[in-house]
Amino acid sequence: MNLPKRVKLVEVGPRDGLQNEATPVPTEVKVELIHRLQDAGLPVIEATAFVSPKWVPQMQDAEEVLKALPPPNGRTYLAIVANEKGLERALAAPNLTHVGYPFSLSETFQQRNTNRSIEASWPLVGAMVERTEGRLGLVVYLSMAFGNPYGDPWSVEAVLEALARLKEMGVREIALADTYGVAEPERIHEVLKAAVARFGPEGLGAHLHARPEGALAKVEAVLAAGVTWLEGALAGVGGCPFAGDELVGNLPTEVVLPHLEKRGLATGVDLSRLPLLAEEAARLKALYA
Ligand code: MG
Repeated sequence: MNLPKRVKLVEVGPRDGLQNEATPVPTEVKVELIHRLQDAGLPVIEATAFVSPKWVPQMQDAEEVLKALPPPNGRTYLAIVANEKGLERALAAPNLTHVGYPFSLSETFQQRNTNRSIEASWPLVGAMVERTEGRLGLVVYLSMAFGNPYGDPWSVEAVLEALARLKEMGVREIALADTYGVAEPERIHEVLKAAVARFGPEGLGAHLHARPEGALAKVEAVLAAGVTWLEGALAGVGGCPFAGDELVGNLPTEVVLPHLEKRGLATGVDLSRLPLLAEEAARLKALYA
C-alpha cells in the first residue's frame, strides 16, 4: 500500500459531541474545551452549528462561542448550517473559516434532518457555493454514503453521481458520512476506492461512526482507499441518536491519532495531551447529559 505522509483529522467533539446534551453547557466551558484542543495542535475543529435554537438549543450560543475564540491564524473553525438562515448567521460570525452542510443521499433522512427534500436541497447547495465564495470554505457532508438503513435506494453509482454533481457545482470539500455507524470496513473501502478512482483523493473525507472496538478497522479501510481526511471526537462522544446503539459514537480521536502516528503518518498533534483531553471530554459528556 502506498501510504501518504500526512493525515488531516477533524475534531468534531465541541459540536457533534455536545449538541444532544440535555443540560445547557455554558459558553465558557465550550470555549475552554476548544482552546485546549487547539493547544494540543488539532488543526480543524468543528466548533458549533448555526441551527434553529428551537430544535438544537445546545448550539444557540454559536456567535458567542466563535467571538470568544482566538483568531484562526491558519487553523480551521467549522460550523454546521442546514438552511439559508444558518448560512447568513455564519457569514456574519467572527473568526469562522468554514461551514459544513449535511446533505443526505437518503430522502427519509434528508427530510428528517433538514426538513427539505433532496430535490429542494440542490438549489440550497448552489446558493451556499455562491454565498461562501471568497469568504468561507464550504464542506458538504454526504450522509448515508455507505448504505441506507431506511430502505431508500442506495448504490455506489448514486454516491459517485452525487459527488460529480457537487464538484460540478463548485464544492471542493466533500466528506462521505456513515451516520449510523453500520457500514462494514469492506463497504467503506469499496465506496471510497471508487470515489478516489473517479475523482482523486483531493478534497475527499470520511466521517465515520463505530463502536470503540471497531474504529481502527474502519480507519484502515479509509487509508487503504487513499483517503487522508478523517473525522473523530475525543472519547468518541457524539454519534447518532437515531442509531439505537449507545456505544456507536464518533471515531475516538485519542485512539485514532496514535494509531496513525504508529503507521508513520504525521498528524501534527501533541499525542501526550490526548489521554487527559479524552477524560475531560467524557467528563463533560456525563456532566451535562
Ligand atoms: Mg458524527
